[in-house]
Amino acid sequence: MKTVLITGANKGIGLASARQLLQKGFHVFLGARDIENGLKATEQLRAEGLTNVEAVRIDVTSPDSVDAARIEIGSKVDKLDVLINNAGISGIDIDSEGQMVPQTAIDTDIAVYRKVYETNLYGPARVTKAFIDLMKNAPEPRIVNVSSSQGSLTLHSDPNYIYYDVKGVVYLSSKAALNMYTVNLAYELRGTAFKVNAVSPGFTSTDFTGKNGGSVEVAAKRIVKYALIGQDGPTGKLFCEETNPDGTGEIPW
Ligand code: NAP
Repeated sequence: MKTVLITGANKGIGLASARQLLQKGFHVFLGARDIENGLKATEQLRAEGLTNVEAVRIDVTSPDSVDAARIEIGSKVDKLDVLINNAGISGIDIDSEGQMVPQTAIDTDIAVYRKVYETNLYGPARVTKAFIDLMKNAPEPRIVNVSSSQGSLTLHSDPNYIYYDVKGVVYLSSKAALNMYTVNLAYELRGTAFKVNAVSPGFTSTDFTGKNGGSVEVAAKRIVKYALIGQDGPTGKLFCEETNPDGTGEIPW
């Protein structure tokens, strides 16, 4: 049976991805930084008849937590087929009047970058580093880094891009950095059975967006596709079906 670890899977796109992979017959390690929330999510899935799931405490910003999750999962299985680095934050603060504080390149405090990079960039790097040995035991390992089309330098330099005016230096640069991490990881794993891709779910209704956007089911389907790609599939690419509906979904870095 194939196994998958999804970080930040207690809600949103991560939870919907867990559901879809359970429906495909995977054994799912449902990552949650708060184990109570993870357990609630697994109960919800079990109530739907999807029983092959267990919650694992994993805070991607904590080396101890990631190491403990690696030991826990390694004590249960001898291979990990799929890793979905999904956990992410926007880092957007709300001011005393309830307004979002824009992440401007000129004014944003460095502490905001540190906080967001810790989750969105160092998190995937830390988790991948911890689990890569277990993944090497799988015949066709897949890593999906949940990114954003908004991390594309090319698109965000194009005035015709739909989100051209939706700037925000911290979150967007964290995803741009995650994209470059993906390129490097795919390069280092070239010539092996690994496939490593960055995938943007598109604008999706979750807590992350204040419940604005498209359905989590559609977003998760876009992520899950790259967890399931065959040996002839792509590696080292960035995909966003919302931005590029041509069938390939590939978008520029
Ligand atoms: P969400 O509903 O807010 O879910 C985010 C998940 O990440 C939650 O489970 C959260 O846990 C978890 N998380 C945050 N920090 C963590 C940490 N340090 N360790 C472990 N887990 C952590 O957001 P979402 O929309 O599903 O976002 C999932 C991914 O999609 C993110 O990487 C986001 O950047 C990306 N994305 C989303 C959109 C969109 O429109 N929604 C668009 C493009 C890309 P808690 O419940 O404990 O907070």
